[in-house]
Amino acid sequence: MTRWPLLNLTAGPVETSERTLRDLARPVLHFRDPAFVAIFERTHGLLRQVYRTDHDVVIMQGEAVLGLEAAAASLIAPGDRVLNLVSGVFGKWYEGYVHAYGGEVVEVAVPYDEAIDPEDVRAALRRNPDVKFLSVVHCETPSGTRNPVREIGAVAREHGVLTIVDTVSGLAGEDVIPEAWGIDVAVAGPQKFLAAPPGLSLMAISPAAWAAMERRERPLRGSYLSLLDWKESWLDRRTFPYTPSVSDIYALESALSQLLEEGVERSIARHAAIARACRAGIRAMGLRLWPAREAVAANCATAVRLPDGITDAQLIAHLRERYGVAISGGEGDLAGKLFRLGHMGRAAQPTSLAAGLALLGRALEDLGQPVDLGTGVAAAMAEMAGWDHAAASYPTARAAELAGVKAGAG
Ligand SMILES: *Cc1c(COP(=O)(O)O)cnc(C)c1O
Repeated sequence: MTRWPLLNLTAGPVETSERTLRDLARPVLHFRDPAFVAIFERTHGLLRQVYRTDHDVVIMQGEAVLGLEAAAASLIAPGDRVLNLVSGVFGKWYEGYVHAYGGEVVEVAVPYDEAIDPEDVRAALRRNPDVKFLSVVHCETPSGTRNPVREIGAVAREHGVLTIVDTVSGLAGEDVIPEAWGIDVAVAGPQKFLAAPPGLSLMAISPAAWAAMERRERPLRGSYLSLLDWKESWLDRRTFPYTPSVSDIYALESALSQLLEEGVERSIARHAAIARACRAGIRAMGLRLWPAREAVAANCATAVRLPDGITDAQLIAHLRERYGVAISGGEGDLAGKLFRLGHMGRAAQPTSLAAGLALLGRALEDLGQPVDLGTGVAAAMAEMAGWDHAAASYPTARAAELAGVKAGAG
């Protein structure tokens, strides 16, 4: 028998709360039943609040990769030029969708421990005035890095270029404000910061993006990948193009409600505070962070360079088998180079952080990598001064940063 883990510190899917599971377990309603239509309507409204947007939102019924592909399929026509920004595995992967729908890729790339420079985006758009779309990943979960989407969106807008933003591991844990940031299609997933089960794509679509889909010589309709099908059914007429994933919607409604009870900005502050403390702990243990600079480190997961002499497979298996702790390794080109401690949802709490760093130290010691067992936890807990679970108050430098973002957002 394979024993289940005690602690999920992976980069997602993350652990769901008891309340989400309880709500998920309600009887399956017929999708035309007024009770289900009311739940879908409410969920739709909650998603708009979490996105903090007046744009239309669409909940596509498949894991977030469906939304990412649907954006390409619905927007890109043969011959369209797309500026694809690559700072990691997911960014590079988007190129495949652009090609699949006949688009031509213009690439701006940086090493996978760095972030895209908005000035490089500006230069690329000047050199390529016929570019119609720009695709970018908000947070590269596989490398624990974040791109400056707000600044990139502003540059795209100056050039009249529509943006497709993968914020699967951004929404609810990082600032992302579609209108203010010039995001035309945003795609998020429930299984990351929202801590709901995987299986849905949470999208926000600008009026300009809808217009571009409708303007195509042959607009995409009658397809599982069609965003227009959702516009013309749910958004226009409150009907469904096919049977939605009823139980997943229950779980999403529940997770969005819980998130809004905490507050979007508080959730972001909590995740930012835990991520900072985790990085402090990793550094104090004498390990090296994967992101080249603190400024490019994301809130979703902390990526750590593998010390010489052990493999990620060894470390992951050891933590899982001996201590019941699940962590993540490197994906794609990053395989064998790093390991990751995820801190999204329930894992973004001092309890999980302390246990994760302590057992990481224990495991490294077991594997012949001597570390001072106390230093990582001590450094992380020093960052937790003033934490207040009861008041949902997470006093960090992030509070001041957020105030700055809000002041400049309008
Ligand atoms: C999780 C995630 C996705 C969804 O991809 P899966 O491999 O199916 O989990 C897409 N983009 C980013 C940035 C993600 O973190």
